[in-house]
Amino acid sequence: MTPPLSGQMMDVPLNLSSLLAHAARHHGDTEIVSRRIEGDIHRYTYKDCERRAKQLAEALIALRVAPGERVGTLAWNGYRHLEAYFGVTGFGAVCHTINPRLFPEQIAFIVNHADDRYVLFDTTFAALVDALAPQCPNVLGWIALADDGHLPDMRTPVLSYETLLGAQRGEFDWPVLDERSASNLCYTSGTTGHPKGALYTHRSQVLHAYAASLPDSMALSARDSVLPVVPMFHVNAWGIPHAAPLTGAKLVFPGKDLDGRSLYELMEAERVTYSAGVPTVWLGLLAYMRDAGARFSSLQRTVIGGSACPPAMQRTFEDEYGVQVIHAWGMTEMSPLGTLAKLNWEQSQRPPDARRALLEKQGRAICGVDMKIVGDDGRDLPWDGVAFGDLHVRGPWVIDRYFRQDGTPLVDGWFPTGDVATIDPDGFLHITDRSKDVIKSGGEWISSIDLENIAVAHPAVAEAACIACAHPRWTERPLIVVVLRPGATLTREELLAFYEGKVVKWWMPDDVAFVDALPHTATGKLQKLKLREQFRHHVLPTALDAGPDCPLTADVPRDSGAHG
Ligand code: ADP
Repeated sequence: MTPPLSGQMMDVPLNLSSLLAHAARHHGDTEIVSRRIEGDIHRYTYKDCERRAKQLAEALIALRVAPGERVGTLAWNGYRHLEAYFGVTGFGAVCHTINPRLFPEQIAFIVNHADDRYVLFDTTFAALVDALAPQCPNVLGWIALADDGHLPDMRTPVLSYETLLGAQRGEFDWPVLDERSASNLCYTSGTTGHPKGALYTHRSQVLHAYAASLPDSMALSARDSVLPVVPMFHVNAWGIPHAAPLTGAKLVFPGKDLDGRSLYELMEAERVTYSAGVPTVWLGLLAYMRDAGARFSSLQRTVIGGSACPPAMQRTFEDEYGVQVIHAWGMTEMSPLGTLAKLNWEQSQRPPDARRALLEKQGRAICGVDMKIVGDDGRDLPWDGVAFGDLHVRGPWVIDRYFRQDGTPLVDGWFPTGDVATIDPDGFLHITDRSKDVIKSGGEWISSIDLENIAVAHPAVAEAACIACAHPRWTERPLIVVVLRPGATLTREELLAFYEGKVVKWWMPDDVAFVDALPHTATGKLQKLKLREQFRHHVLPTALDAGPDCPLTADVPRDSGAHG
């Protein structure tokens, strides 16, 4: 066969530094605003940010950090963290963002596994660093993101970030790096076993930033003032720190105060048009808005993902506050963006209920992400919106193996996400569960997420989690665990009656448990493993009805009618 004709275009490697260089040159005066740990509001521009990122690169090189080595961060969303995103990666080192909400033992494991040379930390984490330092002997130095006057009182000897930067000129020329070299490292939260590292490349991150910016994706623009609530230590804040300089969007960083009032006040003061975060933080913001009778004067859109956005939350944002919700799905192993719920022209002509039903799903794959659902036998399942299957993905910003782990997680070149989903004829993904959270009743799957979404639509319910509970006849049946809104009352029977007509009969929860609070992971997701342990001995009333000699029937065939 004749070889294909070579193209004649410049071979410019995709490097992350080019995104900040672009912003500094073409959106040089656009602001980056941060609520600082020091307590004040800090403002500067993309031009300033690039100069300081260069000073950081120079400082790290002076400390003998070599390309390919890892530099950790333990920091909130703020301008110095953004400088680390570009200053560390810009000369070829790897920016390793660490989730400070994990247990100290997990963090020590991660720092040692990543073999971080230096760790930059916000001074709020001084005590954590004192606890970590003796367990992390290979870290050459801990750098406090502060000036000399704000260094915390610590056992561990630390360097001052501002002093290090002050000794440098900021005239560094970003080198041209191999686009396949590593740029960022993020660990999954390790709900099962040790955390695992996803090592991104410059190429994967730049492509991801372009994809994130597309109109039917996150759609950032130079006209936006963007407040990422999603932390920069959680999968690179979903790529916003890269997509914002790419598009020239103004950035507003909330620092450590993520309560409803602090977020609302910053959004109003900085005329924020765009935000992004997990459902849990929006619960706090919406509760504040309701209690204070507050209204948004500038917020137009928010991306919600990380766990399923309850339709009730979507409706509140849209109907009561006029804020468009963009439901998104992704994961650490995917940088993280996979799908977003946005309608095409034809879908936007459908009746309101049909439009809403689509927008409540996790949406369509962005170009670059290929997805499929497969059954237990590994065969593709139809995109009919009914068949549930294991979701597999592939694409240029999906990992092909974990950092420093033997073997590949891929199955025939596809990454198994561990999520269970349906895909409908519109190509819209609907995540029904993590595979480990699925409720298997008589061999049939019940979606815990769907049952949670119904519970939180009840006005008395603040939060809900649905877990599998042992059942002598059906093996597992759903138990819904509920936190009520302050001052609200609700009985088991009232909540069960609320499900009538909203789900098929055999999906009805068998019982309701009321608790004061639900356990969450370090990234704000429901910790169902913990909840299942807590309710391990819970006896469902239906289990008693089933009678002592009822056999275990794990394999009731579909449509057997056995589920009534
Ligand atoms: P971690 O494993 O650290 O919690 P990730 O953010 O990588 O972090 O978690 C990815 C998982 O979160 C997905 O595989 C999926 O189970 C869940 N998830 C993310 N977005 C959504 C969403 N919109 N709806 C339902 N589940 C989601």
